[in-house]
Amino acid sequence: MSDHPSSLIAFQRRFPDDAACARYLAELRWPEGFVCPACAQRSAWQLRTKPWTYECRGCRRQTSLKAGSVMHGSKLSLSLWFWAAYLMATHSNGISALQLQRQLGLGSYKTAWLLCAKLRAAMVDPKRNPLTGLVEVDETTIHYRHRQAAAAGGFGRSPKGKLLIAGACEIKGEGPGRLRLAHVADASAASLQGFIVAALAPDSTAMTDGWQGYASLPNIIAHRPEVVGTRKAHEVLPWIHRVFSNFKTWALGVYHGLRDKHLQAYLDEFVFRFNRRRSRPAAFRSLLLFATRRHPITYNMLIQPEPRG
Ligand SMILES: [Zn+2]
Repeated sequence: MSDHPSSLIAFQRRFPDDAACARYLAELRWPEGFVCPACAQRSAWQLRTKPWTYECRGCRRQTSLKAGSVMHGSKLSLSLWFWAAYLMATHSNGISALQLQRQLGLGSYKTAWLLCAKLRAAMVDPKRNPLTGLVEVDETTIHYRHRQAAAAGGFGRSPKGKLLIAGACEIKGEGPGRLRLAHVADASAASLQGFIVAALAPDSTAMTDGWQGYASLPNIIAHRPEVVGTRKAHEVLPWIHRVFSNFKTWALGVYHGLRDKHLQAYLDEFVFRFNRRRSRPAAFRSLLLFATRRHPITYNMLIQPEPRG
């Protein structure tokens, strides 16, 4: 059967119970068979007394399938985790915590929010490669949601009352390739160049609108300032502008606006989905794979759920 179920029915048949989920997760985590995290021995018993737990034949250490992953310590069943990962990864617009709570019949909003937040934290590929070739680079601002917010001020490049987002989008032939988005403190040369150096590979070419913050990029990255002049910025850098516009629509539509504290996590979610727009069923497998490699996250690390929007 396909390991990339492409419909809810196919998903349900592939993962009818926790045992099916556990087998899939074990295969993702240890593709060549179990490896003890303490002594690297490859031989273990599966315990009958504790679900999905292995005991190393060498050092006797017990390792649960969820240990060391974002699922660590979670009381939710593997089936629930799998459903949540499937809905978040394959839904073309993603799914909010409130929608997930209803869809999965979760007892509380807090549980649903935490489940979403933990999966969202696993949406960055720890082994991803920087962008290559010709890359559009620009920045934009987004209003953040604050219940007592005064009218947000600030114009142009000033981030006052707004959050500043830097973006980079590869150009591959006629269309966009991969994307990176980051919450940056300001539009200074230090902030923007820090973003570019992290996002772009050496020997790539950054296309910008010629803003002075981009003027002195390190020599390893070529710079192609496109002077805007009488042309509109979205004509000069069409793809990154389309991405910014889609991100803002999505943030408003699914989340009713974003808050400062969680902005990077939502940018990561948007980028995850954008970069897998042509392979949504495979995105589910990627998300679970990254989840097994992401260190555990607790509620206190995330502090508090966003109010329902
Ligand atoms: Zn061991």
